[in-house]
Amino acid sequence: MHELTIAREVMRVLRASAAEESLDRIESVSLKVGVISCLHPAALRTAFSVLKTDDELLCGARLQVQCVPVVIRCSRCGGRWEVDPPEFLCPGCGSRRVRVLKGEEVIIHSYRGTRTGEEEGMLDEDSVGTECNAEVRH
Ligand SMILES: [Zn+2]
Repeated sequence: MHELTIAREVMRVLRASAAEESLDRIESVSLKVGVISCLHPAALRTAFSVLKTDDELLCGARLQVQCVPVVIRCSRCGGRWEVDPPEFLCPGCGSRRVRVLKGEEVIIHSYRGTRTGEEEGMLDEDSVGTECNAEVRH
């Protein structure tokens, strides 16, 4: 299952990023998934929830998956359009010479976590939101 591989890679990137931010727990993760990335949001969420159970950092994390529409640029008229796959046709001039600009990517857009610090002997929990924008290879 491809989604399992992607979920693992997403968690790997999050672990590295959370370590840099000194976060102990991640509460929520926002993913942007291109509609032609061949990934199913529901399968991705399932894979994530299976993998996170034994993970101290991620076990409480909610995964939000946002679908990114397909955006093309036409080589003939230069227009930039949002199209519905599988139709890769310029709506402006009808040309099929188009390049896909968006819609294939998997991006960790942002995440929110907590960091436990110590202030004057008291344990203090900080909630931190992080813009990540890391692209996950797939
Ligand atoms: Zn065109």
